[in-house]
Amino acid sequence: MQSYHEFLSEILIPEQELQDKVKELGKIISRDYQEQDLHLVCILRGGVLFLTDLMRSISVPHSIDFMAISSYGSGVREASGHIRLTMDLRDDIQGRNVLLVEDIVDSGHTLTSVLGLLATRKPASLKVCTLLDKAERRETEVPIDYVGFVIPNKYVFGYGLDLDEYYRELPFIGVVNEDKYTPPDH
Ligand code: 5GP
Repeated sequence: MQSYHEFLSEILIPEQELQDKVKELGKIISRDYQEQDLHLVCILRGGVLFLTDLMRSISVPHSIDFMAISSYGSGVREASGHIRLTMDLRDDIQGRNVLLVEDIVDSGHTLTSVLGLLATRKPASLKVCTLLDKAERRETEVPIDYVGFVIPNKYVFGYGLDLDEYYRELPFIGVVNEDKYTPPDH
């Protein structure tokens, strides 16, 4: 495996900036959900680091659940919006105040499909919190209630986001230099 130093073209968002933003989002969410039942839903796997930090910044009691999807795109890094549920939520969300926690919204197709699916289950409310928003790439309008950072159209990794399933553990958001990156051979 390559060390990330070999293909990191820049650190887009350093660790401290991420941590500060997550704390800020946690405060806003705590204020908005005061006296309300809050249920965080995280889509595996990219949102996991964000979720676990965000939870620690939310001061109102809340529960969590996970779902996993695979999306079929025209290429490895293009989501088409055709998603397949590979792991469903454990708990029923009917009547709950659901906040979907996402790592990144790009074209918006994935989020549109997931929101459509969750809406059929009749939550009391359904909102979206994304750490990153590649707003200029949007192909379909999608409602986002809480945004960490609007980022340019660059392929990023770290803090939950992967390159071929690796490097999610890095505490910052980095930009990959595609010319210097070699995908794993397994
Ligand atoms: P969308 O359906 O909005 O186009 O795609 C969203 C999904 O594409 C994200 O959940 C994420 O899995 C993937 N994605 C989009 N941009 C990036 C990126 O810059 N880096 C990584 N690692 N994944 C991305």
